[in-house]
Amino acid sequence: FFISFEGGDYTGKSTQVKLLMQALAARGAAAIATFEPGGTSLGQRLRREVMHGEDLDPYTEALLYAADRAWHAQTIIKPHLQAGEVVVSDRYLDSSLAYQGIGRGLGLEKIEEIFLWATRNLLPDLTILLDGDPEVLVARRTETPDRMESAGLAFHQAVRQAFLQIAERDRQRIKILDATCGVEELHQQVLSLVSTAFAT
Ligand code: C5P
Repeated sequence: FFISFEGGDYTGKSTQVKLLMQALAARGAAAIATFEPGGTSLGQRLRREVMHGEDLDPYTEALLYAADRAWHAQTIIKPHLQAGEVVVSDRYLDSSLAYQGIGRGLGLEKIEEIFLWATRNLLPDLTILLDGDPEVLVARRTETPDRMESAGLAFHQAVRQAFLQIAERDRQRIKILDATCGVEELHQQVLSLVSTAFAT
């Protein structure tokens, strides 16, 4: 069973992944947590080069993310799914649709086509989109913003709208939760979505 978490910065994806992993472990479910970009050693290099390195043109950037995802799917996600484990990924296809497809203007259809080709159609069984007003979410955080995160509120608002637009296209797979509620309440909502998805 393959679950991805999506959403902009500050939405609390990594916290929710951690809490979900603890809950799955407590229930005796075999599960692994992974993330993009950076879930593989190739991805780690990409993270340094693309996200914190030189400014690449959108096409190069999209194809590097595609290479990362292809390798991530092939060497981590698929083997664990085949072993019957639950795989939980912090970001997956929908991040590329949002950041490269909409943000960088490459178009949703093209990005989807490239990534479905790169992963041989590996889509999550369930995608949880953590959504909320960036202004409210940012106010909760005290950490020093990094280069990407300091891009400003308008950027984060645009990312939010991009994710909501993507969710509209696939309501079956993508479920939206309000990320501005408390961590524990959000976790309970995540568990409820996951239980429902497991049961169907
Ligand atoms: O996963 P994490 O929050 O660390 O990602 C950091 C940043 O990487 C995002 O805020 C986004 O700007 C960028 N990113 C991207 N395209 C992706 C995935 C992430 O531009 N496909």
